[in-house]
Amino acid sequence: MGWRDRGVQVKTPEQVATMRRAGLVVGRTLEMVRDLARPGLTTGDLDAAAEAHIRQLGATPSFLGYHGFTGSLCVSVNEEVVHGMPGARVLAEGDVVSVDCGAIVDGWHGDAAVTFALGDVPDEATELMRVTEEAMWRGIAAARPGGRVTDISHAVETHVRSAGDYGILEDYTGHGIGTEMHQSPDVPNLGKPGRGPRLVAGLALAVEPMITLGSADVDVLDDDWTVVTHDGSLGAHFEHTFTLTPDGGTWVLTALDGGRQELEALGVTYGGG
Ligand code: MG
Ligand code: MG
Repeated sequence: MGWRDRGVQVKTPEQVATMRRAGLVVGRTLEMVRDLARPGLTTGDLDAAAEAHIRQLGATPSFLGYHGFTGSLCVSVNEEVVHGMPGARVLAEGDVVSVDCGAIVDGWHGDAAVTFALGDVPDEATELMRVTEEAMWRGIAAARPGGRVTDISHAVETHVRSAGDYGILEDYTGHGIGTEMHQSPDVPNLGKPGRGPRLVAGLALAVEPMITLGSADVDVLDDDWTVVTHDGSLGAHFEHTFTLTPDGGTWVLTALDGGRQELEALGVTYGGG
């Protein structure tokens, strides 16, 4: 391991199995929230339901109390891209809602996010969500044993740029994950390939493109958390936690199917159980 690999936590298969349990809690909670979300509910309602669900599954919400964050979810609506503090905001027909969730099982973390629409939205909003989710999968698929972290970044950026004139947030990145939610290394959503720590079996990373319909300039609201587009354009955010397995495969720990369907469609060996 060279200097660039310092501080990267490599997990044993047993530790990864525990991260899978945390990942399934996150995946199931996001499904529950997506089914629950409807016009008239507040973002705080979604948050309360998620916290109860996470605890019912025997896990702990990782966002709650994180540097003073008061929710168990981030709920980011329309021009809010990420880190939306749940509260009194009432969901409305036509909203584009990003939900980010983290959970801890026996000290190990999972972290994932989805964006969905409430009712009918313009085609450009649907396209934004599709491109953002695809970019996440392309990024995960670019992670191969022996490669480098920014192979992921490059794949995300290449896909987004090929799809149209979108903004890619630069100051917010994916990250290593394990016994902490945010670990080394950062996983940027743009940049040249072949840089950063080497990708090895047992590494776990969260890949999370944050994409806008307008410019990539963002502001942080007075709550010190909610990140909004400066130009008021729509934002979307998808995230999964994945690992590379000792057999050379990829396992998406927060996807209910382990990512099998999406990975195989992209020609990647599925490494899950
Ligand atoms: Mg997250
Ligand atoms: Mg994350």
